[in-house]
Amino acid sequence: MPIATVNPATGETLETYDALSEEEIERRLATADSTFRTYRTTSFDERARLLRRAAELLEEDRQDIARTMTSEMGKPITQARAEADKCAKAMRWYADHAAELLADEEPAGHDVKDSGGSRAYVRYRPLGPVLAVMPWNFPLWQVVRFAAPALMAGNVGLLKHASNVPQTALYLEDLFRRAGFPEGCFQTLLIGSSAVEGVLRDRRVKAATLTGSEPAGRSVASVASDEIKKTVLELGGSDPFVVMPSADVERAARVAVTARTQNTGQSCIAAKRFIVHEDVYDAFTERFVEGMKALKVGDPLDEDTQVGPLSSERGRDDLAELVDDAVEHGATVLCGGERPDGPGAYYPPTVLADVTPEMRIHQEESFGPVATLHRVAGLDEAVAVANDTPFGLSSNVWTREEADIDRFVRDLEAGGVYVNGMTASHPALPFGGVKRSGYGRELSGHGIREFCNITTVWHG
Ligand code: NAP
Repeated sequence: MPIATVNPATGETLETYDALSEEEIERRLATADSTFRTYRTTSFDERARLLRRAAELLEEDRQDIARTMTSEMGKPITQARAEADKCAKAMRWYADHAAELLADEEPAGHDVKDSGGSRAYVRYRPLGPVLAVMPWNFPLWQVVRFAAPALMAGNVGLLKHASNVPQTALYLEDLFRRAGFPEGCFQTLLIGSSAVEGVLRDRRVKAATLTGSEPAGRSVASVASDEIKKTVLELGGSDPFVVMPSADVERAARVAVTARTQNTGQSCIAAKRFIVHEDVYDAFTERFVEGMKALKVGDPLDEDTQVGPLSSERGRDDLAELVDDAVEHGATVLCGGERPDGPGAYYPPTVLADVTPEMRIHQEESFGPVATLHRVAGLDEAVAVANDTPFGLSSNVWTREEADIDRFVRDLEAGGVYVNGMTASHPALPFGGVKRSGYGRELSGHGIREFCNITTVWHG
């Protein structure tokens, strides 16, 4: 893929960039390595001061960086500003909490006399330069949720961002530099995906995190495992949104519209499969379809727009193919489903009913504003349908029955169970999946410890 900004609302190419040369990549790896040797010895207070400054600068820049994101990947402008604000909050959260999250730990269940010593504790030490391979869908947030904990832990970051968001990628490097982080603490590598393997195999790179599709995750994880390097993978999702008879159906339907269409439906944790008990199926469906039809689709720079274009023509083609395949195999279109004429990678909010397992959309992730509806007769069937997917990122359940909640929390195969609300990430809550959604966790104490050397210190 060329490294370029192509406005998906118009199809116009706004900027193109040359990929870094071999020499330039080498220079940056050397800088990362040498910076790490000193940066790792800085105090939590010093790192927190720099990260708070980055948060302040980001807030000052929020209008401009929001416009950049919108022009690169089509996100509605109000959501782009909200993303910038969320990043600033996450930076402050890690600035405030990292020292506590990484404080020396007494090993649980250990009496030091048992190991014949006088003292033993665990120290969380940084690993070194970490490669972050990131997607375009939340071009600031995906990077910040890696960078804030990594920098607070004393690691340094190398960003390989998606090829369609180079301006946001360069902005991030500049942001951390202006905040005062030493040169080399956070560098953007403008490289194509074929250059990732070489960087990952370099002995100075100690670990990698990838947020993106399954093929990209598999490729990076294979190289990393060949080099015995740690990885965290945040891959796709096809989250269930289960509505049981005791739910507040009105509210569930309203939230369902947002949960499916946030970021024009291009979110790994968007609810994608709506699994509704037959007692409330008609009531839910009527309200949900009404809400999807009422969404304002249009120019992402317009303050009122709720759904913009998809991030690229290719993204729209992929989504349209999934819908066409479902329709060919007998799905019923309750709204949307037609690719509009005219410029821009637009696709309308779409709801499909009568979805069956032989349709591709049943097993694959729909990365756009397309929802599937599934009617179920009870709790067992709801759990079975929810788990009938290769993915396991998060899940949403709507019910007022404690017994239902207990069952979902026990049995849903996902990294999150959100009850009577939609999945959203928060710096204090672990984020990540099981099955083909990946492994490892971001955010919270779990996230910051992923790229630490968990060091046992024992005194005789
Ligand atoms: P993608 O095509 O996998 O790209 C993600 C990143 O990986 C990009 O930087 C891409 O670079 C790079 N890449 C692609 N193939 C690679 C390879 N073989 N080796 C090394 N790097 C490679 O995914 P996307 O279309 O940008 O993003 C959408 C996917 O990300 C969806 O599946 C979504 O669910 C997932 N996602 C997951 C999470 C989560 O937290 N679990 C969050 C957001 C998105 P190029 O752009 O240069 O190809």
